[in-house]
Amino acid sequence: MRIESEIKLDFKDVLIRPKRSTLVSRSDVSLERTYTFKHSGRSWTGVPIVASNMDTTGTIETSQVLSSFGMGTTLHKHIPLEEYEKHDFPNNPKLLENVFISCGIKEHDLEKLDQVLEMTQCKNICIDVANGYTEFFISIIRKIRAKYPTHTIMAGNVVTGEMTEALILSGVDIVKVGIGPGSVCLTRKLAGVGYPQLSAVIECADAAHGLGGLIVADGGCTNPGDIAKAFGAGADYVMLGGMLAGHTESGGELITKNGIIYKTFYGMSSPEAMNKYSGGVAQYRASEGKCVELPYRGPLAETVKQILGGLRSACTYVGASALKELSKRTTFVRVSQQLNNIFS
Ligand code: 5GP
Repeated sequence: MRIESEIKLDFKDVLIRPKRSTLVSRSDVSLERTYTFKHSGRSWTGVPIVASNMDTTGTIETSQVLSSFGMGTTLHKHIPLEEYEKHDFPNNPKLLENVFISCGIKEHDLEKLDQVLEMTQCKNICIDVANGYTEFFISIIRKIRAKYPTHTIMAGNVVTGEMTEALILSGVDIVKVGIGPGSVCLTRKLAGVGYPQLSAVIECADAAHGLGGLIVADGGCTNPGDIAKAFGAGADYVMLGGMLAGHTESGGELITKNGIIYKTFYGMSSPEAMNKYSGGVAQYRASEGKCVELPYRGPLAETVKQILGGLRSACTYVGASALKELSKRTTFVRVSQQLNNIFS
């Protein structure tokens, strides 16, 4: 047994220190980034925030709204082929460049991936497993990379530098970083496994950038300030679940209780998701996700404007005229308290 005693931090443990700046207004801030991916060789320009590949957030309806803001969506792996057909992806280039087709690593996942890629002509893949530390995962990544040499591949999840490097060297363009920080995740409770997300992002971004790869900070953002902190820590993309859930375009069930409307949001390892897609929770495993009822939040576009406004504000406070400069201009201060909760 070993104990690492260097302190590891979460979003809640820090604030971004303001810096003098010459910017006049937050409208001067550009949130767009352009990336050229290490393996696929493709380029992409947009606002690097993506919806999670959960069936409540990675919906086609969500992707339509987000792509209109230049943002991305990892479409969840259970979307039926007929649904893709209905939306005529090959003739919708704006949507196509901003979505990733998700898959797991089982035989049937890979078969469906082939079918969806062919039907949609999408060039972006998201290979998602809860634990990205297995040799089998690496072997599947190598296989998919060999089959699709010019597709952009996002894959994870991991939380440490050495595994980030291993994924990039196996053909991944964007490493998905985060184990346990999610709003409906129970991994830390059930398995006791995880890594504070801010430190995971700092360490994995450093490892990825050294090899010409990128990372997406996946999970744990509870407000626009956390997104700014993730970018400040070096994330190239930030992935959101809970912050985008509960809207008109989200999946989940609408429920009315005492005159208030709610929409359900659940983890992809929750009993709700497993009952829906896997015929229940298998005997040998515990469910590592939970289900919550969120007060219904209306159209997603309003929330997106709020998020982008917060991010622009963060950039102006540190004098970053573009999102690209945010991490260079970020100094975190460690805090013991970040909010005044007197009226909450
Ligand atoms: P959020 O933005 O809601 O904090 O986190 C979203 C992320 O939580 C997802 O992108 C995914 O990585 C993770 N996640 C989704 N469902 C589950 C689950 O059932 N269990 C665990 N451990 N993580 C989940």
